[in-house]
Amino acid sequence: MAENNKKKAKVAKVCKALERRNMKAFYVGTGKEACAIVEKILEKEKPSSIGVFGSSTLREIGLIENLKKKGFNLIDPYEKGVTNDEVFKRKNDSFCAECVLTGTNAITEEGQLVNIDGLGNRAAAMIYGPKKVIVVTGVNKIVKDIKTAFKRIKQKAAPKNNIRLGYNNPCVKEGHCVECNKTNDKSICRFSVVIERQKFANRMNVIIIGKELGY
Ligand code: SF4
Repeated sequence: MAENNKKKAKVAKVCKALERRNMKAFYVGTGKEACAIVEKILEKEKPSSIGVFGSSTLREIGLIENLKKKGFNLIDPYEKGVTNDEVFKRKNDSFCAECVLTGTNAITEEGQLVNIDGLGNRAAAMIYGPKKVIVVTGVNKIVKDIKTAFKRIKQKAAPKNNIRLGYNNPCVKEGHCVECNKTNDKSICRFSVVIERQKFANRMNVIIIGKELGY
């Protein structure tokens, strides 16, 4: 109980920090509640197109399937059976969508969103373009500061992402990052991005779920 209250207080602090940075923040206990918030935002905004970015969290909570079942028109490059050309097209279309759904690699206690991208499309769309950005993340992505965020991404998330994507980069064998991005064209760590704040209020909606989700 005490541990739970401590966690709640910590996330409440992060939500306040996000709001100070002009982002809308939500804290929910379950993936189902997070799905309901996303639906509510989409129903209100009625975006002409909804892009989906690579995120284990979105799929773990069943958000993508749920939205498809409810008739939302998603641009999903990760749908099974899609050809490589179509994947590329959908990634481009997602980047230009009116609303995008994504996870984040880390959030600092001060409310900064920290990400490392291989292609850069996700981080770029989070920064500029889509009118609405919906970020869904587990409480495990909260870290103390930017330095800790990059350390966490490189040491924990990136090796697992390499495995998920089927890449044989050195961190897969070593179990930790060896900074191969200095010399290796196949590194998935090409763009390191910190989002400090938003220009437009409520453009970015960050939904934090009180569970361990994603990498
Ligand atoms: S920089 Fe290279 S070794 Fe480090 S996490 Fe990224 S892909 Fe792996």
